[in-house]
Amino acid sequence: MTHKIVVVYQSLLGIYGDRGNAMVLVKRLVWRGIDAELIMVEPGDPVPDDGLIYLLGGGEDWAQIAAVKALEEDRGLHRGLDAGGVLFAVCAGYQLCGHSFTVGDNDEVFAGLGLLDVETRRGDQRAVGEILTQWTKPDGSMSLITGFENHGGFTELGSDATPLAKVVVGVGNGSDGFDGALQDQVVAAYPHGPILPRNPELADYLLERALGVQLDRLPRPDVNAEHDQLRAERIRIVRTTKNRAEQTR
Ligand code: GLN
Repeated sequence: MTHKIVVVYQSLLGIYGDRGNAMVLVKRLVWRGIDAELIMVEPGDPVPDDGLIYLLGGGEDWAQIAAVKALEEDRGLHRGLDAGGVLFAVCAGYQLCGHSFTVGDNDEVFAGLGLLDVETRRGDQRAVGEILTQWTKPDGSMSLITGFENHGGFTELGSDATPLAKVVVGVGNGSDGFDGALQDQVVAAYPHGPILPRNPELADYLLERALGVQLDRLPRPDVNAEHDQLRAERIRIVRTTKNRAEQTR
């Protein structure tokens, strides 16, 4: 069986290179001897309902509105999640999974997919800069997530959603001191980067959640060493740009 990693609507939600997240997921499966393929779907194409992981990336407000409309008409993503697929949603993708988000100077309210118990409202200033968060993994150990955030909407979680990680540097969801949300089959976060090349443990967490198994460490010491080096560099940079990130709050 070949597992499908499905990039949903890159033409709408692909302005931050979030397709790189899908490439990482495919590679980390294939490197472990598990068959996987990258599937790209665009508005008008049916979204396959047998995806292992679906990805929604970042984009402009208008693109979020168009993506919600197309996904509601298609319903393939909804069926795929009902069948046990996992959705990883970044920034605009995160916002459009909620009950609603606002757009424009008049804060017009648009309905989201309602997959997450969250609401997004436009703030006075955009959050732009490096972001570093502390994530408690399912086994109770801690890991840092590094990325880059650029969003004007801020997200409040309802009681059915759990925050993904605690903000160390940057803004994330906004006022709650956390970033991202978890609920049922959906994992969401603000950071781009893309986020998964910078944070391979998060990639493996998504794979484990979708496959329902625990994965061994990647059998590629060369790749692991490169990841460690990249992470160390990004974490050092975000710590030295702390002041600039804090000014965007
Ligand atoms: N359009 C959304 C906002 O500005 C999301 C931006 C993004 O995906 N980076 O809040």
